[in-house]
Amino acid sequence: MSAQQQYSFFESVEKSFDKAAKFTKWDKGVLEQIKVCNSVYRLNFPIKRDNGTIEVIEAYRVQHSQHKSPCKGGIRFSDGVNQDEVMALASLMTYKCAIVNVPFGGAKGGIKINPRNYSVYELEKITRRYTSELVKKNFIGPGIDVPAPDYGTGEREMSWIVDTYTSLKPGEIDAAGCVTGKPITQGGVRGRKEATGLGVFFGIREVCNMEDVMKKLGLTVGVEGKRVIVQGIGNVGYHSAKFFREHGATVIAIAEHDGGVYNENGLNEEELIQHRNKTGSITNFPGAKTIVNTNEALELECDILIPAALENVINAENASRIKAKIIGEAANGPCTPEADEIFIKKGILVVPDMYLNAGGVTVSYFEWLKNLSHVRYGRLEKRFSENMNTHILGQIEELSGKKVSSGEKEFILRGAEEIDLVHSGLEETMITATREIMHIWLSNPEIPDMRTAAYVSAINKVGIIYAELGIFP
Ligand code: GLU
Repeated sequence: MSAQQQYSFFESVEKSFDKAAKFTKWDKGVLEQIKVCNSVYRLNFPIKRDNGTIEVIEAYRVQHSQHKSPCKGGIRFSDGVNQDEVMALASLMTYKCAIVNVPFGGAKGGIKINPRNYSVYELEKITRRYTSELVKKNFIGPGIDVPAPDYGTGEREMSWIVDTYTSLKPGEIDAAGCVTGKPITQGGVRGRKEATGLGVFFGIREVCNMEDVMKKLGLTVGVEGKRVIVQGIGNVGYHSAKFFREHGATVIAIAEHDGGVYNENGLNEEELIQHRNKTGSITNFPGAKTIVNTNEALELECDILIPAALENVINAENASRIKAKIIGEAANGPCTPEADEIFIKKGILVVPDMYLNAGGVTVSYFEWLKNLSHVRYGRLEKRFSENMNTHILGQIEELSGKKVSSGEKEFILRGAEEIDLVHSGLEETMITATREIMHIWLSNPEIPDMRTAAYVSAINKVGIIYAELGIFP
C-alpha cells in the first residue's frame, strides 16, 4: 500500500460494500455472510528452475462465496499477488456474477510470479503443479470451482490446467468444465478471448446511448466520435480499443507500463501491437507522440478513459487531474474509494468494474454450459434456420413478385454460428445489467454513484438467496 492509499484492496471492496449495504434491507448477519471470504487456501510448492536451482512458489485460491455452485474466477500470474489482493478479486467475482445473472459464486487464484522471468517449460510446471494441488484439496472441478484466465494468463495456461485435471480424474465426463478460457480444440468456446473487451464496449455504448446521462455529462449521445484513452494493451485493453475504434470512436492514447503513445487522429491497436512485437515497446510508434511518463496518459483530455490493467492506478494522488468525463473500469479495482469521492464531486461518471468487465465471466459461463452439454452452440439449429429462412424468403418473393438483392439474401438466410450466439448473449447481458444498475441509481437520489448502485444490485441478488433459502434458520 502506498502512503497515499488509506485502504488495502480488500478493505476498499469492503468499504464500497458498506457504502451500498445502507441502501438494502438485509440485516447485519446476512450482510456479513455476503461480505466475508468463505475459504482462503494459501499454498507453497517447489519447482526446479531450468538452471537446476529449486524455487519455492507462493500461490492462492480464494473462494469468496458458495451461495451458488461452482465458484468462478480467474488465476493471475503477477509478482504483486498477495492474499489481500486475491480476496478482493474473489469478492468482486461474486458481485460481478450476481449482477449479470451468471449463476456462480466468486473465487480467484493467484501465483506470485512475474511470468516474463520464467521459461515456457517452467510456467507449465508451475501451472500443472498448482492444478494438482487444487485437485488434492478439492478446490477445482466443474461443480466446485472453475478457474479462468486473468492478468498474466491465457489459453495456454488453461489448456495445461484442463489437461492436468482430466489426467487426474479419469472417467469424469464433465472434466472439460473444470476451467474456462480454453483453446477451442480443448473445449473452449468461440468469442471467449475478446469477451471482456467486447463487454466493456457494450456496457459503455449502452451508457452513451442514455440521453439523460449524456446530457448531464455534457456529451453527445452515442460512442461515435468519442475520444478514448486505453491504459494497458493486454487482452482486455486491446479488444476494448479495437471495438471502440471499429464503432467510430477515436482511440487517441494507449498507455503501457513503460510509456504511452498519443495521436489525436486515432491509433490502430493492431498496428501498435505489431510495432511492439518488433521493437519490444509501444513507444516510438510511427506517427504518434511518445508519452515518457506513462501515468500522464491517464490525465490527458478525453471523453472516455478505460483503465484496463491493474488495481489502484487512479487514486487520491492523481484523481483530481483526470479530465475524462467517463471512466470505464475494464480492470478490476482501478479506482480507489478516495478517487471515487473526488469523481462524485467533479461529476465524472465511473462505470464500475464489477459489472463492466463481466463479459469475460459471462462468456465463461457459456463455455461451461457448452462443456456440460457436450455440444457446440448452433449445431442443432443452424441448418434448420437456414432451411426455414430460405422457405420464408421464397414465399415472400413469390407473393410480392420481387427479388431481394444477393447481399441481402445472404444476410437473411444465414443460420446462427456459435460466435453469433455468444456475441448476442453477451450483448444482451451487458445491456440488461447496465439498465438494471442505472435504474437502481436513478430511482434513489441518495445513492451517490454508479458503483454503489452496482453493489446494491449485487447485494440484493446474493442476499435473497441467503435470506430465503434458510441458510440462517
Ligand atoms: N478473470 C476474469 C474476471 O476477472 C474472468 C473470470 C472468469 O471467466 O471466470 O472477470
